[in-house]
Amino acid sequence: MTSGDLQAHPGMLALARESRGMTQTGVADAMTKASGGAAVVSQGYVSRAEAGRLAVGEDRLVLYAAALGYPPELLCADPQVGGVGVGLIHHRKRASLSASALRRIHAELALVRLQVAGMAGAAALPEKGHRVPRVDLDDLTTARDAARQVRREWSLPAGPVADVIGSIEAAGCWVVVRDLGSKLLDAVSQWDGRQMPLMLVNGLAPGDRCRFSVAHELGHLVMHTEPGTAGEQEKQADAFASEFLMPAADIRQAFTGGVDLARLAELKRTWRVSMSALLRRAVDLNALSDWQYRTVVVEMSALGYRSAEPVVIPPERPRRVDALVDVLMSDRGLDLDRAASCAHLLPEDFERLYMAGDRSLSHALLRR
Ligand SMILES: [Zn+2]
Repeated sequence: MTSGDLQAHPGMLALARESRGMTQTGVADAMTKASGGAAVVSQGYVSRAEAGRLAVGEDRLVLYAAALGYPPELLCADPQVGGVGVGLIHHRKRASLSASALRRIHAELALVRLQVAGMAGAAALPEKGHRVPRVDLDDLTTARDAARQVRREWSLPAGPVADVIGSIEAAGCWVVVRDLGSKLLDAVSQWDGRQMPLMLVNGLAPGDRCRFSVAHELGHLVMHTEPGTAGEQEKQADAFASEFLMPAADIRQAFTGGVDLARLAELKRTWRVSMSALLRRAVDLNALSDWQYRTVVVEMSALGYRSAEPVVIPPERPRRVDALVDVLMSDRGLDLDRAASCAHLLPEDFERLYMAGDRSLSHALLRR
C-alpha cells in the first residue's frame, strides 16, 4: 500500500503527538520544515486534523509522519481497535509531575502496547495466556492477603523475591523499561482484563526503587479492576508491594536485633528494597517505637539518603520483549525495516528502543 491510499485517524494524530511531547504548534512548524518550505502549516491545521474536521492523506500525511517521526501507517491506525487508551491506567508518580508529562507518558504506554502487539502478531507466537490472579478486596481480604495469594500461586519461595520483573514476565505480563524523561514517575501499567497486562517502567530509577514500583503496579493489576479512591488504592498497592517483597512472616525476625542505619544497609543488600522501605516495614511490624523511627528518619535525611541511598542495587531488566525481537529477526528472518514496520516504528527508533539490549541470553524464554 502506498501512502496515497491511506488517511490519518484523528485520535491517533493526537496520541502520536502527545507521545512525542509536542504541542500542536510544534507539529505545524515541524511539518513546514519537513516540506522544505513548500508548505506552510498552521497550528489551526493540526488542531482541525486532530478534531477530525479535515482529512489528512497523501502528501500531508507524509509530512505529518515526518514531523512526528513515525511511519505514515501508524497515524492511520484506529487507537480504539488496537486497544490503545482503553482499560484502567495506574501510575506510581509524585504529585509534582505535570499534566503534560503525564499525558506524554500515557501516550507512550498506549504506543508501546501497539508496538508489542504488532511484534507478537508478526512472530505468530502461540497464545499462552497469563497467570495474574484478580483479587477483590473486602473486609476479610486485605492487600496483604492478595500479595500472599500471588506469591503462593506463582510458587515463590519464602524470603526475598529473586527477580520481580522476571516473575511478572513469567506470569504472562509484558514489561518494558524506558527512559520516561522524568524522575517523578516510576512506573505505569494498564490492563482491561482482556488484553495482555502491560507495564512501562522508568529506567532512570535505582534498582531497589524499581523493584518496589513494579510490585506496586502488580498490586494495582491484581486488586484494582475499577477506578476507586486514588489515595486508598495507592495505599493498598503499597501494602501489596511491601508484603510481596518483604513478607511479614519472613522478615519480622530480621528486625528483632534493633533497626539502625547499619542494619538497614545490610538488609537492603539481602532484600533489595530501599532502606526507607525497610524502615517503613519495620514500623508496620511494630519492630520499633515511634521515637526510634523518627530518630532514624532524621539521620537518613541529614545524610542525604532521601535523594540518594547507599548500597547500589543493580536494576532488573525485562527479557520477554527482547526475546520477542529475537524471534522476529532470527527465527522469522525479518530485516530491520520489516521488524520496525511490525512495531509501527521507523527503523532508527526500533533499533534504539528494541535492539540495544543483549538478546542472546533471553532467546530461550519464549520457546519454553
Ligand atoms: Zn499506584
